[in-house]
Amino acid sequence: MIEPSYYLSNIVQELKPSGIRKFFDLAAGMEGVISLGVGEPDFVTPWNVREACILSLEQGYTSYTANAGLIELRKEISHYLKNLTNIEYNPHNQVLVTVGGSQALDISLRAIVNPGDEVIVIEPSFVSYASLVTLAGGIPVPVQTTGDMEFKLQPEELEKAITEKTKAIILCSPNNPTGTCLNKKELEMIAEIIEKYDLLVISDEIYAELTYDEAYTSFVSIKGMEERTILVSGFSKGFAMTGWRLGYIAANPEFLNAMLKIHQYSMMCAPTMAQYAAIEAMKNGKEDVIHMKKSYRQRRNLFVGALNDIGLTCHVPGGAFYAFPSIQKTNLTSEEFAEQLLMEEKVAVVPGNVFGKSGEGFVRCSYASSLEQLQEAVRRMQRFVESRT
Ligand code: PMP
Repeated sequence: MIEPSYYLSNIVQELKPSGIRKFFDLAAGMEGVISLGVGEPDFVTPWNVREACILSLEQGYTSYTANAGLIELRKEISHYLKNLTNIEYNPHNQVLVTVGGSQALDISLRAIVNPGDEVIVIEPSFVSYASLVTLAGGIPVPVQTTGDMEFKLQPEELEKAITEKTKAIILCSPNNPTGTCLNKKELEMIAEIIEKYDLLVISDEIYAELTYDEAYTSFVSIKGMEERTILVSGFSKGFAMTGWRLGYIAANPEFLNAMLKIHQYSMMCAPTMAQYAAIEAMKNGKEDVIHMKKSYRQRRNLFVGALNDIGLTCHVPGGAFYAFPSIQKTNLTSEEFAEQLLMEEKVAVVPGNVFGKSGEGFVRCSYASSLEQLQEAVRRMQRFVESRT
C-alpha cells in the first residue's frame, strides 16, 4: 500500500478546497432546495450559438485550431473589445482564446509571477484568485474592502499593501461576489497607484456585459493602463456559456506570447466546436445579451429591494448577478447562517467568509433564478431571519 500524501506536492497539500463546493454538495443531496448558490446564468445558451456549434460538427471541424484560437474568432474578439474598451488589440498577437476565464487567469499569473512575488487580491474576491497566485508560486496579499463603502477598493488601502515584492494586482469589476462596479473616476485613482509603483494589473472583466446603472468602463481604457493590463474575460456569464469553457486574454504582444507558451504546452487550444459557437455569439449575440441583461436587472431590483425589506441590508449591486447582503442582525456567522438556512428553509446561499476576511457577516445570493423562485426564497429567508432576531 502506498501513502498517496507522501507523493503530493506541498503546494497542493496546503491548498484549501473551494468553500463554495461544500454547499453545492450539501444542497445537491436534498430535495426542494432553492439554490441561490451557483455563480452562473439561468439562461440556456441562445439557439443560434448552439446551432453554430452543431453546424461546425456537421462540417467535420473536429481538429485542433491554432494554439491561440481560430483567427476568425480572435478577429471577432478584437472587434468586440474595440467597441467595449476603445482599444484596438491586434488579433494576430494580442488575443489568446482560452479554456474559460479560469484558464486565462491561471496562465496570466503563471506568465508573470516569480517565486515569492506578491499579488494583491481585493477581498471579498472570487475564490480562485488567491489559490491561483499560490499555484503560480506567488504570495496572495489580501486587501480588504467594506460594506459601508459598498466594497469599493479604497486607493489608500491598496497603497498600504504594496511592498517591494508586489508584482501585480487583480481587479474585478463588476465584482464576484459583491456585484460592485468601479466607475471611471474610481479606476483612475487606482491607476495612479499602479503607475506610481510600476505594477501590472490583471483585470477580470468577465461580467462586463452585465452592468445595470452606469456605463461600463474597462480598466484598459484608463490612460496609461493598456500596456500594464492583462485583460481577462470570457463567454460564460454575459453570453450564458459556462459549459462551453471559453474565455480569452487580451494584452500586449510580449505578455501574450509568454502566455501562449504555457497554453500551447498545457492546453494546446480551446475546444474547437466551442470556438465556432463563440464566433456566432460575438457576431450576432448582441440582442440576446441585452435581453438577458434586462432580465437580470429586473430581478436585481426586486430581489435586492426584498432583502432590504426583511432586514438583510444590501447595497444595490451595479453589475453581475449577485447580491451580498449583511446578515449582522441575525448574530450568526456567515457559515452558521448558510448552513442553518439550508437545513431549515432549504435555501442555498454562499457564506461570505469563503470570499475572504471582509466577506464575514455577509452571504452571497445569486439572483440568476426565476422571479417565482426568488420570491419564494425571500419568504423563506424572512421566516429564518425572524426566528433569529
Ligand atoms: N472570474 C470571475 C470573477 C468569475 O466569477 C468566474 C466564474 N465564476 C470566472 C472568472 C471564471 O469563469 P469561466 O472559467 O467559466 O470563464
